[in-house]
Amino acid sequence: MQNKFDVIVVGGGPGGSSTTLYCASKGYKVLLIDKKKFPRDKICGDALGGKGLKVMKDHNLLEQIDKAPESEKVYGVIFSSPKGKVLEVGNPPDQNTGKPPAGYVCPRKVTDNILFQAAKKNAAKTLEEHTVLDIIKEDGKVVGVKVRDNEGNVEEYMANVVVGADGASSLVGVKVGAEKVEPEHHVVALRQYWEGVEGMSDKIELHFMEGILPGYFWIFPLPNGKANVGIGILTKFQREQRIDLKKSLEEAIEHPMMKDRFKNAKPLEDAKGWGLPLGSKRRKGYGDGFLLVGDACSLIDPFSGEGVGNALISGKLAASVIDNAHKKGDFSAETLKEYDELLKEEMDEELQTMYKLQKLGRHKFLLNLIIDKAVRNKEIRDFISNTLTSEEGIDYRKKMASPGFWLKVLIS
Ligand SMILES: Cc1cc2nc3c(=O)[nH]c(=O)nc-3n(C[C@H](O)[C@H](O)[C@H](O)COP(=O)(O)OP(=O)(O)OC[C@H]3O[C@@H](n4cnc5c(N)ncnc54)[C@H](O)[C@@H]3O)c2cc1C
Repeated sequence: MQNKFDVIVVGGGPGGSSTTLYCASKGYKVLLIDKKKFPRDKICGDALGGKGLKVMKDHNLLEQIDKAPESEKVYGVIFSSPKGKVLEVGNPPDQNTGKPPAGYVCPRKVTDNILFQAAKKNAAKTLEEHTVLDIIKEDGKVVGVKVRDNEGNVEEYMANVVVGADGASSLVGVKVGAEKVEPEHHVVALRQYWEGVEGMSDKIELHFMEGILPGYFWIFPLPNGKANVGIGILTKFQREQRIDLKKSLEEAIEHPMMKDRFKNAKPLEDAKGWGLPLGSKRRKGYGDGFLLVGDACSLIDPFSGEGVGNALISGKLAASVIDNAHKKGDFSAETLKEYDELLKEEMDEELQTMYKLQKLGRHKFLLNLIIDKAVRNKEIRDFISNTLTSEEGIDYRKKMASPGFWLKVLIS
């Protein structure tokens, strides 16, 4: 019985750590497995918004992010349009404090380690540097996993529920037969840490440049003159237009708008790439004996590319469904499908709204129009500012995705 748990969580990123923390807090015996040893890097823009921060706060982990010497507080976004107009938008003030709330840019090596160490403390057992090779099925139900350690020893672990939190190329997803992520619902992106980029501020920067729409070039500030720099584009367009993303990144850095800012800067690593499965088409995240959370379930915001917040929230929802399943003593798809209903309630409206905005962003002239108008019109600027907060922002984003809003912008 040594190898039998209530829940097995495959992957210790934000999705897996969150699932572990919430399941453990409900008293379940969790086995957490990751193929890497933490702290480990994860290719990412490193931006942490309101949604993710709220879950971190739930687990009293926000202070660690706030105090980490590697993390930088940010208070808004700088956008630039394809024709080069620059728009600065601050976070709207918090209703209680009257001050704009801070977001963070914190290397995932740090953020994920904070989450993982908390999860490890609460898990019944944690295996690092152990790779899940396969799932184990009995009568069509997932009942465990086959795991290989660094020395090549293979062991089997059993549980009532297996949670696939193993990221964008989820092995659990493949093994349970989850549908492939289509290029229309997938982004390819590169990240490169730099130091010495000039003109940084307390805002993250999203530059909508010709040739990489729908997508953007980003510069996110980090402490000590460092920056997370990167580029991402919808895979469908990258394939259709045979875009060499490394070349696009070099071109963006050489762009007349950027050239001077990078003239004394140096890259701290080779550009590294990874995929983003978008929530514009969520994967079916449940079945007999299993759930998928985070990127494994394709939950990334289709406009901004943020996935940490939804990964953390999906872990919370998964834990509540796992709790109900234990109370019923039934781990069938019929019971676990509650997870799909919760995801639908929690994020589908927002994901679909952001998909609409992403589609609008494919039109260069609309991006030029809104950024142009917002630079000159405070009402539009304030409107965009309100879209930046995740809770109240949804109503603003919904309006922004409607034809009426664009008509107003056009005639403003
Ligand atoms: C270039 C880029 C930029 C991004 N920028 C941002 C951003 O600024 N803000 C934001 O919110 N989101 C961003 N995202 C999205 C974000 O990185 C993901 O949504 C987030 O990491 C999802 O968390 P997760 O826990 O689902 O998966 P992951 O963070 O990928 O964690 C999966 C874990 O599973 C482990 N694993 C995988 N396979 C196995 C196996 N077989 N056995 C055992 N362990 C395994 C891995 O080692 C890993 O630790 C970006 C993504 C990319 C690619």
